[in-house]
Amino acid sequence: MSFEAFKSRFMELTSDPVAIGYIAHDADNARVVYVNSAFSEELGYAAHDVVGKSVDAYHDSETWHDFISAVRPHFAAGDPSFTADAVLIRADGSRLWASASFVVVEEQESQGRYVCATFRDISAFKEAEAVAEKARALLAAAINAFPDPFAIYDKDHALLVWNPAYARSMTDAPDDLKPGIGLKALLLEAARSGRVPEAIGREEEWVEEYYTPDVLAPGVEDFEFRGDRHFRMVRSRTEKGENVVLRLDVSEVVRHRRAAEEYARQLEAANRAIMEKALRDDLTGLGNRRLLTQKLEEFVERKSGSDGEIAVLQIDLDRFKQINDTMGHAAGDHVLVETAKRILDLVEIDDVVSRIGGDEFIALLYVSAGSRRPERLAKSLIASLSRPAHFEGKECRFGASVGLARTPLSDPDELLVNSDLALYKAKRQGRGRLGIFDRADFEEARQNKTLADEIMRGLENAEFLPFYQPQVDAQTGEIVGLEALARWAHPDRGIVSPSGFLRIATDLNVAADIDRMIFERAICECSQFFRSHLAPPSLSFNVSAKRVVESDFDAIRRSVEAYPGQVCFELLETIFLEEESDAFLFHLDRLREFGIGLEIDDFGSGRASVVALQRIGPDRLKIDRRLVAPVSTSSKSHRLLRSIVDIGLALDIEIVAEGVETREQAEILAQLGCNRLQGFLFAAPMALSGVFELFSSSEGLVEARPTR
Ligand code: C2E
Ligand code: CA
Ligand code: CA
Repeated sequence: MSFEAFKSRFMELTSDPVAIGYIAHDADNARVVYVNSAFSEELGYAAHDVVGKSVDAYHDSETWHDFISAVRPHFAAGDPSFTADAVLIRADGSRLWASASFVVVEEQESQGRYVCATFRDISAFKEAEAVAEKARALLAAAINAFPDPFAIYDKDHALLVWNPAYARSMTDAPDDLKPGIGLKALLLEAARSGRVPEAIGREEEWVEEYYTPDVLAPGVEDFEFRGDRHFRMVRSRTEKGENVVLRLDVSEVVRHRRAAEEYARQLEAANRAIMEKALRDDLTGLGNRRLLTQKLEEFVERKSGSDGEIAVLQIDLDRFKQINDTMGHAAGDHVLVETAKRILDLVEIDDVVSRIGGDEFIALLYVSAGSRRPERLAKSLIASLSRPAHFEGKECRFGASVGLARTPLSDPDELLVNSDLALYKAKRQGRGRLGIFDRADFEEARQNKTLADEIMRGLENAEFLPFYQPQVDAQTGEIVGLEALARWAHPDRGIVSPSGFLRIATDLNVAADIDRMIFERAICECSQFFRSHLAPPSLSFNVSAKRVVESDFDAIRRSVEAYPGQVCFELLETIFLEEESDAFLFHLDRLREFGIGLEIDDFGSGRASVVALQRIGPDRLKIDRRLVAPVSTSSKSHRLLRSIVDIGLALDIEIVAEGVETREQAEILAQLGCNRLQGFLFAAPMALSGVFELFSSSEGLVEARPTR
């Protein structure tokens, strides 16, 4: 075929760059004889730039030798066509990766060859290949450097890829590992080399068990390896079905976690110990009040989910104080410890026993509804604790009283108060008794509670007001004094006497508030009333010990100044016996400085000594009406009254007799030398309007009817 014909057939048909070279039979290199227009366009060489030159003019010099080595054998073999990759250089110096297809045609006349090269641009492919190759290299480096075992198996479980850590984890000869080795064989190898603790001694058997069809199923699993190492095995599958196995060494994590768990356990134990100690009574080892409160709460919780009931036994030792006082504290402690033992002997395992005060114990029981166990236990406790204890060869005789309260009669949060009430009831009946909080107590408690609410409301609404009971001169019958007595103007029940509210008010700690209200009101109305009167009577007030200690002295001084006559405070004889503190005496002195007289009320009911009387230095003694009542019938009380009057005379203290109901009593008392008389014979307590009538109607009260 002639060259011209060859050229016209092929050259311009293709859009790929084409170059034709001619190699003379004795030459090494081809000379360009033709390039098509696609060649000029792609590479930027005009035909005349390259035609006549060697083909290496547009080949990359760096890769030229590789190229030549690739094509030379084909020439040598006389191949008519072949392909080879080539890197071409464009006119602007840039490179073009090309796949070159060669067609070789012999030229008979000159014995040379025409070589037609068609170039296809494969730069994109080559670049991607280069990136992939680089990534592969990096990945391989990373996998190899990775400290944890990593491997890939094909879908038939033959080893494809692994890193040194993996090899080391499976065999003693990691370098001998070859691709294609089966997982089962490798597992056996690992087992035989002692790497699988659970397989030791039964390696083959273990492999048979372990090597199931889904041994490489994707998933995560933790396991122990060689005793001290812990691994997390992560398995996944590639798209082609290869199995990727990654074993992460989590020994450190596990060790830290275990250490943390151990630490938490120790902390908890220490906490428990501290809590335990904080809930215990040191002496007896029983619970303390805190434990009691806590357990009671737990019981209440438990009760809400079942039909059980809670019972509280309050145990109080009889004669404990005597043992302590006469035999010493060690003996007292011994009795307490012994008591704790005896209680523990009788209770059941779930009962809670606490010591809540010196010689007070509480047993908390959870029982089925209607159970009689609390009563039985109370009785056994009383019996058991009536036996004497022995301390250093001496006998300590004691005993116990028990108060019992239980749900549902008592509310859970009132159990302790009510068992205390029951205990009080038991003690009132004598020693070694059981008191049970019953329906009557419940009613009383309920009424007390209502009353307490009403008292508080009454205080807010200023429902407490003074009544007055006149005191007369024993000789002349003239009104010389008034005792202010508290009354409660109850909105429904009318006028209520102190017996109807004073005890509860004292329990509520508001007796002093009532005292204050009575005091202020009485001073206010009496100072207006008596301002015009010639001889205002003395005005006495009953005050509680609290009132003395908590007085607002400025207010008292101002009030006292407003009243034209003498103001006196009556204090119960028992107050003087109980309140001996310096503060109390100091406060009394201040009151005296304001000109307030002091009277000892209900004198003779307590056991105030002459010494105490001298120390207090009262202005008056009021003889208790229980001593006055029998004066006309009993010579003994007559003598007693005479000696009281004598003491008064000796110490320069006035004597008032109260509760005078008959003319006979009045005469005897006057004869004995009492200074003042007070009682229904003369007048009952009344509102100020009544006092007003008395003052305006007559000169004295000697004719007054005894009224109530
Ligand atoms: P008290 O101080 O011994 O008051 C005398 C009580 O005897 C008054 O009872 C009075 O009504 C009553 N009484 C008067 N004459 C006779 C009589 O001839 N025969 C009998 N059987 N009783 C007579 P009242 O008003 O019910 O007060 C009872 C107690 O309440 C008082 O006893 C006093 O201890 C206390 N009290 C009264 N008012 C107050 C107060 O404002 N503050 C305080 N802290 N206690 C008060
Ligand atoms: Ca009084
Ligand atoms: Ca009295």
